[in-house]
Amino acid sequence: MTDLASLKAADLPLVRTRMVGEVRMHALEAGLQRLDGGAMFGVVPKPLWERRIPADARNRIPLALRCFLLEMPDALVLVETGLGNKESEKFTDIYGVENAAEDPAHPDRLHDALAEAGFSAADVDIVVNTHLHFDHAGGNTYRDANGEVKLSFPEARYLVQRGEWEYAHDTNERTSASYLPYNYDPVERAGRLELLEGDGEIVPGLSVFGTPGHCPHHQSVLVRSGGQAACILADVLPTMAHLPLPWIMGYDVEPLRTLESKRALLDRAVRESWLLCSVHDPLTAWGSAVMGARGVELGGDEDGGRR
Ligand SMILES: [Zn+2]
Repeated sequence: MTDLASLKAADLPLVRTRMVGEVRMHALEAGLQRLDGGAMFGVVPKPLWERRIPADARNRIPLALRCFLLEMPDALVLVETGLGNKESEKFTDIYGVENAAEDPAHPDRLHDALAEAGFSAADVDIVVNTHLHFDHAGGNTYRDANGEVKLSFPEARYLVQRGEWEYAHDTNERTSASYLPYNYDPVERAGRLELLEGDGEIVPGLSVFGTPGHCPHHQSVLVRSGGQAACILADVLPTMAHLPLPWIMGYDVEPLRTLESKRALLDRAVRESWLLCSVHDPLTAWGSAVMGARGVELGGDEDGGRR
């Protein structure tokens, strides 16, 4: 566990694949970022959180930039797009971003993973952003060799909650650093944006539901097929270390709403035997939700494998 602090993007398997009923789901490792451990665990004291995820010399913990590719019967769906390639060296240093492509033809590591899963960017039919923070929507667009910002998935419809779209365009001093317009405004200009109004089905077997708190219109994604279900949690529960109810990020704008979103989500997850899929856990892509002595834990089915 102690070597987690020196985790490198190349230590993780670029792609992990499993079935959810009849749906093939790929966890695509789009790289790593490193955020302040204290901010990631809110009111939880460091002696407790550092046993789960140890910090580096700058007090940062490694976090995956995991995206999920779903081969739905009617569409190829990408949930989250990682951080992209548009940020400065200073930004990359502060946030410890490690997401450069191994293939020089690719804008970033997400596209390496997509290719390894057997797809190209043009194959993606639908992009779902759980919210528009830079580490979830940054790869919606990329900067090409001429410095122009272009859509990363030229054939896709990009889906986000209307409330989140409005929130991203009405920032304040505390929220503005997370919302970078070049990650999403070009999508609207290209006519590829579709705004969602609350909970609902996107394509048969794939739905979204509100899990507010991290931001007011944060959504999680649910895949159902053949009697099985998998939930892409995103920032309502950023790493598996955040399974205990009070382990809530200091970044959240409404932490007590996160608490209620988590409580409701985890109740349902246990009752309906969901597979929990993590966007930011440094190692574990997914695991089944089971009730343990102290609350919800990961049961079997866990995949925290390294390369
Ligand atoms: Zn995030």
